[in-house]
Amino acid sequence: MKIAIGLDIGGTNTKTIIAAQNGEVLLSRKSPTPVSTEKDRERIENRLVTNLKEFLNDEAAKQIISDSSELAGIGIGVAGLIDRRRGRIIQSPNISSLNGVAMREVFEKEFSLPVILENDANAYAYGEKWIGAGKDLENFVVLTLGTGLGGGLIYKGRLYEGPMEVGHMTIVPSGRYCTCGSSGCLESYASGRAIVDRVISSLEKGTESLLSKCCDGNIYKITPEVIYETALEGDSLCREVFREVGQFLGIGIANLINILGIDAVIIGGGLIGAWDMFIDELSKEAQKRAFKLLSTDVKILKSALTKDGGSTGAAGLLFNMTAGVANQTAS
Ligand SMILES: [Zn+2]
Repeated sequence: MKIAIGLDIGGTNTKTIIAAQNGEVLLSRKSPTPVSTEKDRERIENRLVTNLKEFLNDEAAKQIISDSSELAGIGIGVAGLIDRRRGRIIQSPNISSLNGVAMREVFEKEFSLPVILENDANAYAYGEKWIGAGKDLENFVVLTLGTGLGGGLIYKGRLYEGPMEVGHMTIVPSGRYCTCGSSGCLESYASGRAIVDRVISSLEKGTESLLSKCCDGNIYKITPEVIYETALEGDSLCREVFREVGQFLGIGIANLINILGIDAVIIGGGLIGAWDMFIDELSKEAQKRAFKLLSTDVKILKSALTKDGGSTGAAGLLFNMTAGVANQTAS
């Protein structure tokens, strides 16, 4: 059995998996993405390499590798703009210390294995087509609702290799500042970071909420998970915040439906645990704004790869690349 390593480097956490060629995740680990400043550019990729070496030295990983017929390579998904040809990160708004890093070269050198680099949401989209909720669909968009908001497109059954920076479509003129340098981006209204900023600013203005007593009284320690848990307790600020996420995502999705004529939108990422709190508003808003003829049959689906979407997709892309190379060699 062939196996591959999948890496999903996000703004908060890095997921590392070993996947089999049928998409089964054999081993999975989540660790915080190393944080470093612009000056420490050298260090973040070194630390990512060290983390992967540690993962592979784990007894369970060693066993899986020795039982396999071949370790095909490493697929890497990372949040940001990618130069596919050079295997380089152009700009990662949420992990700026990775800007300009030649990830493919670094990992190829360190591990002497084939490496593919892709945007994390594109990798996720590929995973949904490969073994997930999009398996039987030809045209769909995947949105990853995590620290930021990523997007990937499967068009005519294939991964569209474009930027698909869905999170950075402008949704509010003169809106909230965004990490990309613009303002009013969808990501600033519908993402983990957006909902944290939104509740902190409301609490600072004196809005009453159970949140004011959470996190040892330090509102700056609030996380998306805390907001979700407090929403479950019926807190009106937290519930309103998720309703707004649904509204803004619905607007963004209506734009995507009108532009791309897709069959489905698949939503994944860390925030989809709160699905029930935003999906009604999202569907209502999308139906209200998109062309009726285009939106009537569009399905809004929950990701089938909730736990390891980006890393599974990255491993899938690696299998796909090495199979392509094998085919070329055979012909
Ligand atoms: Zn932006």
